[in-house]
Amino acid sequence: MKKHNFSAGPAILPAPVFQQAAEAVLDYNGIGLSLLEMSHRSGEFVAIMEEAQQSAKDLLGLGDDFDVLFLSGGASSQFFMTAMNLLDENASAGYVDTGTWSKKAIKEAQKFGSLNLLASSADKNYSYIPKGYEIPDNMRYVHITSNNTVAGSQFHNLPDTKVPFVADMSSDIFSRKIDPSRYDIIYAGAQKNLGPAGTTLVIVRKDIAKAQRDIPTMLDYSTHIAKKSAFNTPPVYPIYVCMLTMRWLKEQGGVDAISRHNEDKARLLYDEIDNNPLFRGVVAKEDRSLMNVTFVLENEELQGAFLEACAAANINGIKGHRSVGGFRASIYNAMTKDSVQVLVDVMQDFTKLHG
Ligand code: PMP
Repeated sequence: MKKHNFSAGPAILPAPVFQQAAEAVLDYNGIGLSLLEMSHRSGEFVAIMEEAQQSAKDLLGLGDDFDVLFLSGGASSQFFMTAMNLLDENASAGYVDTGTWSKKAIKEAQKFGSLNLLASSADKNYSYIPKGYEIPDNMRYVHITSNNTVAGSQFHNLPDTKVPFVADMSSDIFSRKIDPSRYDIIYAGAQKNLGPAGTTLVIVRKDIAKAQRDIPTMLDYSTHIAKKSAFNTPPVYPIYVCMLTMRWLKEQGGVDAISRHNEDKARLLYDEIDNNPLFRGVVAKEDRSLMNVTFVLENEELQGAFLEACAAANINGIKGHRSVGGFRASIYNAMTKDSVQVLVDVMQDFTKLHG
């Protein structure tokens, strides 16, 4: 029986995407070849890549001033590639530290430029999004992690600045509307809202895509832009699954429709957390993530029993990140409201027993 998968990533994908992805492994569109054995230069794969790139543009409302790349090396490689390409000895960038992943981004980027730590929520274990800090106009860019997968917080407003943003949207890409004009680079590892692990969506504003210094060819955005994301062998299969997911998303009504759905699901779960005396949310209410819902039991001794109750209800992946503890329900685009209801029912039944 299929489980209700609340895993943070690799994560749930839409059921029809799993089906089509499975079929393509055996025989892609009836051509007598598996997608896994097809050349990345074949007409079939070029069409997949083009549809994937165009769909990302359609879904986010990106104009021709952006290029869409599907690269390897995970979102983690973008931590340094962004800085490597955009900074030089004279430029500096601002970083907002909102948790595990932004800390890692800062660690890597500082090897390639001078960084200014604009704000951090480390003082309260990343349970809020900092606000009201000054951003000097001379920053080359401001880096944010739009959704903090581990802490369960999310930027609901961009910091007030004219400086362009570089954003890690690994865990909330395509989950809500964005204003593309505010960004120079958006990157997202595929394995949450987009596809399997193995590729990273990188959206680059064309006019900035010339590295400011001599860097390895593979790490230069302009290389991949010039070769339409096929300079070397791209991760063919993950890109295909991303394309299918984006096709599905368009069929659902695009980002506007899915964002309403996401708000609905998040409300259902947060309402239960707020109304159930056994549980408590860990993030400031106004900064709560609509993708990764983090919460704890007031009585930690009940943790094991709650995990058992979840397992008995066929719920997977609810345990919090090892660095935070508690629970984390990841409710990405493909998560149904019915599955969220199953979790809410378990919480209510648990309270009847232990409340
Ligand atoms: N950024 C965020 C917000 C993430 O959640 C993750 C992975 N969970 C990463 C970056 C790292 O991604 P990858 O494993 O693809 O390098």
